Amino acid sequence: MTERPDLQALRAALARVNDPEIRQPITDLGMVDALTIDDAGAVAVTILLTVAACPLKETLTRDVTAALQAVPGVASVDVTLGVMSEEQRAALRTKLRGGAPEKEVPFAKPGSLTRVYAVASGKGGVGKSSVTANLAVALAAQGLKVGVVDADIYGFSIPRMLGVTGQPTQVDDMILPPIAHEVKVISIGMFVPGNQPVVWRGPMLHRALNQFLADVFWGDLDVLLLDLPPGTGDVAISIAQLLPNAEILVVTTPQTAAAEVAERAGSIATQTRQRIVGVVENMSWLELPDGSRQEIFGSGGGATVAESLTALTGADVPLLGQIPLDVALREGADAGSPVVLGNPDTPAARALLGIATQLAGRTRGLAGRSLGLTPTARA
Ligand code: ADP
Repeated sequence: MTERPDLQALRAALARVNDPEIRQPITDLGMVDALTIDDAGAVAVTILLTVAACPLKETLTRDVTAALQAVPGVASVDVTLGVMSEEQRAALRTKLRGGAPEKEVPFAKPGSLTRVYAVASGKGGVGKSSVTANLAVALAAQGLKVGVVDADIYGFSIPRMLGVTGQPTQVDDMILPPIAHEVKVISIGMFVPGNQPVVWRGPMLHRALNQFLADVFWGDLDVLLLDLPPGTGDVAISIAQLLPNAEILVVTTPQTAAAEVAERAGSIATQTRQRIVGVVENMSWLELPDGSRQEIFGSGGGATVAESLTALTGADVPLLGQIPLDVALREGADAGSPVVLGNPDTPAARALLGIATQLAGRTRGLAGRSLGLTPTARA
């Protein structure tokens, strides 16, 4: 009969299993938690995933099981999956950076006067990127210094909408972003070959976002806009950690179903303690030649989301504007010339410019911000 293997032999076997995404041994990444073997050779191991929704957990379970089963004396293997704590994830991030401390994100410093708006939507196709691109150039046209981070890993469309064809330039460890219509632009799409979808998740994605914010030379910005992927995922969580002062701008269509999911996306702000700056309703109606409005996607979605988020957060969440359907908006997006610049008199451009003006009025204000001062009692 084979002798019962010791834990060291089991650990050595696990050291040959790589995390499918990070491509490093799971033992090095702090992913192996409890590891036991009983007298009958039954092994039980807990593997900590970086994020709960890890799409590769089956691969990992299979690889871990196979590696342990190959050790002589192991009769059975039972794999339990857990999730890393925030501290464990932070330790992993430090490890991936080779021990270097996480670079400081300038916009997250207490004295930063840059307004950061994270543009979120419940689902794709509601016009989140179109709103981001147009607001960015509209704010820049008003003389503000504006940057955009396209963090929509599922459909990085910002470079095309802004007509950016250039690549960022790398100078030492600094990345210089391309500039289009006076807006500095960095997109996750500039870092993947061809038109491939981005498969990074968890720590990898967090690292990329940290780089966009810390290594990109943004200069002194008045406004930073972030185009988030639709829904509530890793990017939203990372942004909340990297930029706790980011305010959320929720984009929805008038449709009830879209409004409900937009509300969910907005409601994560209550968990991350981020403020919601307001709601934008897009595709609100189509203006017919006789001046009447056809409400193709129904009505009321934007107002409903604004009301629900106001009730949920206890802070006033206004409906900042309603953008009608407009062929000029779509054509402008396809041509890399946002409608607010190319066709500022169309109904959609006017609505977008109105929203931009409201946001511009809020820039560089200290109102509602903590000054980091502690009141002292009078002597
Ligand atoms: P998302 O970022 O939410 O996925 P996009 O901004 O990419 O959405 O918009 C999806 C498509 O709809 C694009 O082709 C865009 O040009 C078009 N679009 C968005 N808003 C409007 C609008 N108000 N009028 C006409 N077309 C629009």
